[in-house]
Amino acid sequence: IMSKNKSSESVKVVVRCRPLSRKEESNGPAGGIVQMDLRLGQVILKNPRAPPSEPQKTFTFDAVYDSSSKQRDLYDESVRPLIDSVLAGFNGTIFAYGQTGTGKTYTMQGLWLDPEKQGVIPNAFDHIFTHISRSQSDKQYLVRASYLEIYLEEIRDLLDPNHGNTRGLELRESPETGVYVQDLTSCVCKSIKEIEEVMNVGNQARAVGATDMNEHSSRSHALFLITVECSQPGPDGRKHIRVGRLNLVDLAGSERQAKTGVQGDRLKEAAKINLSLSALGNVISALADGRSSHVPYRDSKLTRLLQDSLGGNAKTVMVATLGPAPQHYDETLTTLRYANRAKNIQNQPRVNEDPKDALLREFQKEIARLRAQLNHRRFRSKQKKEQVDGEAEEFVKLEEQRLEKENEAIREDQFLLAEEKQKLLGENEKMMGDLRKRQEATEQLTARYKAMESKLLVGGKNIIDHTNEQQKMLEMKRQEIAEQTRREREMQQQMLIQDEEAVELRETFTSLQQEVEAKTKKLKKLYAKLQCTKAEIKDVNDEHVRSRQELEQTQNELTRELKFKYLIIENFIPPEEKNKIMNRLMFDPEEDEWKFKPLVPDESKSSQMKKRPASAVGYKRPISQYARVALSMGTHSRYRAENVMLLELDMTPP
Ligand code: ADP
Ligand code: MG
Repeated sequence: IMSKNKSSESVKVVVRCRPLSRKEESNGPAGGIVQMDLRLGQVILKNPRAPPSEPQKTFTFDAVYDSSSKQRDLYDESVRPLIDSVLAGFNGTIFAYGQTGTGKTYTMQGLWLDPEKQGVIPNAFDHIFTHISRSQSDKQYLVRASYLEIYLEEIRDLLDPNHGNTRGLELRESPETGVYVQDLTSCVCKSIKEIEEVMNVGNQARAVGATDMNEHSSRSHALFLITVECSQPGPDGRKHIRVGRLNLVDLAGSERQAKTGVQGDRLKEAAKINLSLSALGNVISALADGRSSHVPYRDSKLTRLLQDSLGGNAKTVMVATLGPAPQHYDETLTTLRYANRAKNIQNQPRVNEDPKDALLREFQKEIARLRAQLNHRRFRSKQKKEQVDGEAEEFVKLEEQRLEKENEAIREDQFLLAEEKQKLLGENEKMMGDLRKRQEATEQLTARYKAMESKLLVGGKNIIDHTNEQQKMLEMKRQEIAEQTRREREMQQQMLIQDEEAVELRETFTSLQQEVEAKTKKLKKLYAKLQCTKAEIKDVNDEHVRSRQELEQTQNELTRELKFKYLIIENFIPPEEKNKIMNRLMFDPEEDEWKFKPLVPDESKSSQMKKRPASAVGYKRPISQYARVALSMGTHSRYRAENVMLLELDMTPP
């Protein structure tokens, strides 16, 4: 992979708050606890249990979206630039993070049937294929989609009809593409309709596997992956391929799962449910901290899959979703802290140019090969004055009639011997067969060529663009406005920071009185800030204590479980058996599991086994005299009773 535009940029974090639900509204007049300053990109959180004197908590993000925000606004402002980058050959990731029921799925998928309420994913489909149809005709595209979910630390392919029966897929790592899922189904998509179909198939597979869809979706992570390969002639005249990979991630609910009070398998399961999510938290903390040298990507499947998206070669947008209800204050605060930390992660995105494993290159080669074969065929047929193209069938029909007439003539010819007649007829028959075979082969070749070629989308051609100029203008204007809003907000945030710094610079005062006033004002401001920070420290400490208590509790339970197993082993398993088992065990770090070494090492011992006992010389295994006689008698009924099964293997000496 060539590196280009190598530079560092931070993860973009936006926050979205959903409206109060009808049920929450009926709970009382309390209203929401989340306020938003759209212009500044700030979230102000009110603690419903705190005295009014306590300062409110304020967080600043790249953008915030309140309960009246439109799907379209979020897309145009925060997602569109990312998808544009993917189309230019960058890796991109969007993930939605938040408590269950706060709108992760609404943001990522939305309501498909209402164009106003379509989420990020359908809008991205639209965006990608519209872009392709409007690009120049010297560009060729190949779009592929995959869909997987991570549930209880197992990766399931949602596009594989048998995914329920098979074991989870495994992760592999290659220097070219980084971490990838082995044997994951990937579908070539030629239109919005096709990629929507892929999405639907996956969503159905997800629902079928789940006993309770709500619980399932709140505990599993769903990843929709789109790969866009684009080939374009470069200044050197050769075709260059850029590959953009897009991860669209709907994470499991971030609320704490109660782990306490469960035992055995249930405990193991409970530990796995949030493993990926807590590992994600640890990765984000380690990256945001900047000081820790070890980032624990390997702790879970999710963090390994998102390794590039967090601190690697990708552009990343995180959408943190909140609910406005007072009873979820703690969760909402945790989400905001999490999101706040993620802002500090630095990525190093670069354009993926001419990677060795580009599928588009393979396709181009295959198409060129098929075309050459077809041309060769045409050329040969022209020499023989056959015609292969449109009139091919016509030609075959004519030829058939001609041969049929000849056959007739031969049959009626009275001067020919019967034998000769037969021979001539046979020859004609063969000619006919050859002709048909050739024709069939050409047809097959043409079909394959056409199928192959149709998979590649050519700029400005494959998809009919229904939008007229006016609509295009409107879209452009909307994008401009989104861009404007974004820049304005950045400026506002910049100004806020400068304001705070400027206070210290204005040190020249005309009178003592003025100086006192200014300094008092400054003191008050700083005092408020101090209080905020103190409260923050206390909160974070409390949270640490809480999570430590939880961990200790889990540890206690695990220790108890361990003691129980020890008790059984010490009292009921003979020591030599135990030792045998212990000697065979080894740890597989790739799958994070203990495994048995195979009893017979593959190669080394097999040569020993080949030495046969003397009684088996000439046979596959030792055999009695009686059986030998039986063998030589074949299937004689006298000996039937001895070898009832009559296995082929037994009967044939080597
Ligand atoms: P999650 O995936 O985080 O568990 P959902 O996306 O399923 O949450 O959202 C829960 C409910 O709230 C759904 O009925 C959804 O339609 C509604 N909802 C979420 N966000 C919004 C929003 N921004 N505007 C309107 N309704 C929303
Ligand atoms: Mg959901």
